Amino acid sequence: MDIKVTPCSDNQRKPIPTDDNALGFGRLFSDHMFLMNYDPDRGWHNARIEPYGPLSLDPASMVLHYGQEVFEGLKAYRGADSSVRLFRPRDNYERLNRSCERLVIPPVDVDLMVEATKQLVMLDKAWIPRSEGCSMYVRPTIIAIDPFVGVAPSQTYLCYIIVGPVGAYYPEGFNPVGIWASADYVRAVRGGMGEAKTGGNYAGSLKAQAAAKAEGYSQVLWLDALERKYVEEVGTMNIFFKINGTVVTSPLTGSILPGITRDSVMRLLTHWDMPVQERMLTIDELFAAGADGSLEEIFGSGTAAIITPVKEIAYKGDKLSVGDGTTGPVAQRLYDSILALQYGTGEDPFGWSERIDG
Ligand SMILES: *Cc1c(COP(=O)(O)O)cnc(C)c1O
Repeated sequence: MDIKVTPCSDNQRKPIPTDDNALGFGRLFSDHMFLMNYDPDRGWHNARIEPYGPLSLDPASMVLHYGQEVFEGLKAYRGADSSVRLFRPRDNYERLNRSCERLVIPPVDVDLMVEATKQLVMLDKAWIPRSEGCSMYVRPTIIAIDPFVGVAPSQTYLCYIIVGPVGAYYPEGFNPVGIWASADYVRAVRGGMGEAKTGGNYAGSLKAQAAAKAEGYSQVLWLDALERKYVEEVGTMNIFFKINGTVVTSPLTGSILPGITRDSVMRLLTHWDMPVQERMLTIDELFAAGADGSLEEIFGSGTAAIITPVKEIAYKGDKLSVGDGTTGPVAQRLYDSILALQYGTGEDPFGWSERIDG
């Protein structure tokens, strides 16, 4: 399928931000977007890149009532030599299709989506920030658009990709965070939608997130929904614990989002001959490891921040402090290594970084 490109006219172009320190995350979008439609007769069709702008949707559109939607999040990076790179983009679109499967949305063509991402990013290349640690965030989304207020899978869908510049997560170096384990709320239960990247999981998390914020913590640490004791993941990140020299993370039990950064972390640790284990870990075991001194590091992983060091966990009024509250050596090494792969400054034994500027 060809992608038809309708570029902006000069007077449709928005000013490109010049202060990379003021970019923040998720508020600015470039001049163009990719769009594609689905109907049962034509399948996915009419792939196009157009000027960025509002969508026109029937108020009865199914996504607006019962939440049938999936999304992804990846980034484009500009190297010091002005090269432009994507990091493991196929993995994002393969995961998008697994999310589609769960939400009964027809799958997209992975090659076409990677190609659409490349064309959109390169068309709006001037928007990719140049400062270290900044990047262009890429947000693919699919929504159900049948005008029908009834509970059933939609017959028609809209797939779109928007992109925009985002700032460095740690402009002044790491800022280890505190996280708050919820005893009352759960994110996902096995058999639910926890494995899928879909908005409903986030809608259901807002109340707990607000509770964490009110207590002074940056994100929620989710425990499993059945026994309420196994540590699963954090708001927008997967989570790792270094205990007695081994890095431990929860297995993908069905209620956890399979992070691509999570996978990169595990493969890098293995590549470095560092012990890494996927196993269930209870919050009590974690607090015990904190008390006996065997807990060495905690860090989260996700596309937005890459690695987020954790300095404290709160649970039912108890607090667990990790080391001296500064970033541990494993978190630092992972952050530096993944950043170098993404910007093309380190060797890439895995073939994860894909240069797209010709
Ligand atoms: C996207 C996401 C992650 C991180 O996945 P990455 O592919 O590493 O960015 C972790 N948890 C949740 C709930 C997510 O939505």
